[in-house]
Amino acid sequence: MRAPLIAGNWKMHKTSSETEEFITRFLSLVPQTTAEILLIPPYTSLDRAGRMLRGTGIALGAQDLHPEVRGAFTGAVSAEMLVDCGCRYVLVGHSERRHVFGEQDDLVGRKLCAALAVGLRPVLCVGETLSERRDGATERVLERQLDSGLRGLMPNAIADLVMAYEPVWAIGTGETATASQAQDAAAWIRGWVCDRLSRSTGDAVRILYGGSVKPDNASGLLALADVDGVLVGGASLDPSGFAQIVAGTGI
Ligand code: PEP
Repeated sequence: MRAPLIAGNWKMHKTSSETEEFITRFLSLVPQTTAEILLIPPYTSLDRAGRMLRGTGIALGAQDLHPEVRGAFTGAVSAEMLVDCGCRYVLVGHSERRHVFGEQDDLVGRKLCAALAVGLRPVLCVGETLSERRDGATERVLERQLDSGLRGLMPNAIADLVMAYEPVWAIGTGETATASQAQDAAAWIRGWVCDRLSRSTGDAVRILYGGSVKPDNASGLLALADVDGVLVGGASLDPSGFAQIVAGTGI
């Protein structure tokens, strides 16, 4: 049984005092649920959020990490630093990292290894651009991102990963994938894990959908057979909207 995961990626939004306001309000609104809830604020809010979330059952994650353990990497943050702030999860290979910052698949793979080495659970984001979808290349892109991202990882580490299918054309655009597009891609990713690793790993791995998820479309996406949760950007910035998305798990 895969516990649903509802994750909010705040991107470059909210100062640490705005983070405090959000968490105070969200805690007063969030329904009882067996779903796992994950907040992913910017680096500067992690420590404050980590202190506020302690004992609440809500997990903390970071938006990125550097693959090296320490050293002369001005501006970068290591996996160990994230754990120190209370993070349990970290996004790896988010489409904005790939397409705005030019991250390539091999760097994504090194980041996955760095996260797993300190016990952080990576949320590996994969997805095609609009032109790749129009060219019928969606599965080819997913395969390349999974092959090169997961190369070198031990099979038992992969069961601990969360995968997020996030079509680039749906992120921050207001255009959500249809139920069948989201289900087909999630089922394809699960099939890839079953074929490359094992049926039990494929059955265990959680696969999220991300891309313009909102309170009014979340419950339909969460009902899909191979979608185990959602990765929410813009709509996770409002405590009441994000609480409604959590309520959409119906649990
Ligand atoms: C995201 O940042 O991962 C995301 C899916 O953003 P949005 O929900 O705003 O499309």
